[in-house]
Amino acid sequence: MRICRTIASLRRALSAPIPGRGRVGFVPTMGFLHEGHLSLVRASRRENDLTVVSIFVNPSQFAPGEDLRRYPRDPRRDAAALRREGVDILFIPGDAEMYPKTFRTWVDVTELDDKLCGRTRPGHFRGVATVVLKLFHLVRPQRAYFGMKDAQQGLVIRQMIRDLDLSVRLRVLPIVRDADGLALSSRNVYLSAEERVAALALPKALRRARRLIEGGERDARALRAAMRAEISLQPLLAIDYIAVVRLDDLEETAQIEPGNTLVAVAVRAGRTRLIDNYLSGEIKC
Ligand code: AMP
Repeated sequence: MRICRTIASLRRALSAPIPGRGRVGFVPTMGFLHEGHLSLVRASRRENDLTVVSIFVNPSQFAPGEDLRRYPRDPRRDAAALRREGVDILFIPGDAEMYPKTFRTWVDVTELDDKLCGRTRPGHFRGVATVVLKLFHLVRPQRAYFGMKDAQQGLVIRQMIRDLDLSVRLRVLPIVRDADGLALSSRNVYLSAEERVAALALPKALRRARRLIEGGERDARALRAAMRAEISLQPLLAIDYIAVVRLDDLEETAQIEPGNTLVAVAVRAGRTRLIDNYLSGEIKC
């Protein structure tokens, strides 16, 4: 595995002939890797001839006061895991490499970026879209891999790919969970033992939502109430939002449309923000 810390060295690594049919798969991450990230890496390895992974804790997607400084990092362990998975290139740039002092260009995916997480994290999706577009330009992948865990991010990227006619195929893969149901997240290390137990209310509420939809419930208000009842049982959790939205435009919907519905939840457990969702439909392009 080649480890590239600069844009120049990444370009050099990518200028070598690519084996097979020359298909490049790309997995952007912020590191502190877990099985969720590795599921994306494995899919890329299966579907491409060369796999590039990036690790970059992107400062521009953190609002002031968020956890940028304390975000968990372990680049050595991450590199060892990626080497074991057979990744070809690891791009791990520093902040100044990605955002030199003169940096001035930003990507706004309007209307999708101010809903759900965008409401409490202003500027977050602008940071995400900008860094992902920059990484797409550098890596030039045929396919890019994202997790359903960040469903809104997947939708923002899909919109950007469509609007800017990018020639990359988006692959958004299922949420990988711990045995007890909690969605894997690099931020789970912040949780105390008690908070971790309380956090199980998220997958529980989403399972309930799924059962209700599958049982024929079409009233979004009833779904939200059922989930709120489940999560409110946990005094350690403060609800940020419980939303039932149309998948195509993230607009709140009164009537659930199976195949076009995202049920999304965000809570705070102490200083830790947790998100999870259930998707009836798929995100691809
Ligand atoms: P992050 O490092 O948290 O920015 O995540 C990098 C990519 O991994 C994003 O596309 C995430 O959606 C995805 N990801 C994070 N957690 C999971 C998970 N539990 N299951 C599947 N994909 C995930």
